[in-house]
Amino acid sequence: ERGRLARLKHTPALTLDGERIELLANIEQPDDTPAALDAGAVGVGLFRSEFLFMGREGKLPDEEEQYQAYRRAVEGMHGMPVTIRTIDVGADKPLDDRRESTHLNPALGLRAIRWSLSEPAMFLTQLRALLRAAAHGQVHVLIPMLAHASEIRQTLELLAQARAQLDARGQVHGVVQVGAMIEVPAAALTVNMFLRHFDFLSVGTNDLTQYTLAIDRADESVAHLYDPLHPAVLQLLAATIAAGRAQGKPVTVCGEMAGDPAMTRLLLGLGLRSFSMHPAQILPVKQEILRADAGKLAPWAQAVIESDEPAALLTEP
Ligand code: PEP
Ligand code: MG
Repeated sequence: ERGRLARLKHTPALTLDGERIELLANIEQPDDTPAALDAGAVGVGLFRSEFLFMGREGKLPDEEEQYQAYRRAVEGMHGMPVTIRTIDVGADKPLDDRRESTHLNPALGLRAIRWSLSEPAMFLTQLRALLRAAAHGQVHVLIPMLAHASEIRQTLELLAQARAQLDARGQVHGVVQVGAMIEVPAAALTVNMFLRHFDFLSVGTNDLTQYTLAIDRADESVAHLYDPLHPAVLQLLAATIAAGRAQGKPVTVCGEMAGDPAMTRLLLGLGLRSFSMHPAQILPVKQEILRADAGKLAPWAQAVIESDEPAALLTEP
């Protein structure tokens, strides 16, 4: 099975009806790029930059260290696009154990972009490092957990400020595409606002599931209720994909769902054309894509997301 899958590495990811599907890798460190290339990824869809910041005992990476790390990831992908998510700490990813554990409800607290906007000097440092790395390849900057127009505005203002600071220093930097993660139901429900301000969207189905169902993704006692196939989650996802297509802007799914071969046909049927996942999942998902007819799957996928229990229909037709 493994050997057979390995032969698919250089096979283009095309459905039976000729739809080209983009298969990207999720990585946590620049050293993960060889695994991404080895699996035949055509880029990085999610570099979780917070892993550069975690376990540092209070001494966070400075601009130079971050720049070197992002540059290494970009160069490691040989010119293919690399989507780097700005720091997403808090909740299940504490920056340091003492500070975060004091929060009442970390999943609903100061995490991700909320944390970055509360630490503007730190955020500007990261944005400058990203812009500098963009001089070496295609960098896409991805912002986690946005929900409010004010957060969008502040984020884009800080990005402009970071660029101005580099100009003032006379430091070389590049152009970036900027994208928003859709992982809070409020964002999915106002997706057109996001499409007006961003170049692309990426759906974080792990958090979208957590926040839609009010299930803490790290709480074992409610793990049996954590269901990415709940019709509410699927309908928010479907609406996000459809809105992106209507505006001609790319939409990727980078949550666990994108790397689950049992979900591939459903996501194709909902119109998804870009998937980002752990490198080990790329070939199993590609195998499903090669067997799928995206056009024929569309009406079936609509019926699945409108049913009370989508999971029961997943293995049909
Ligand atoms: C997600 O929420 O689906 C996601 C991709 O981000 P993370 O799992 O890092 O929160
Ligand atoms: Mg998330």
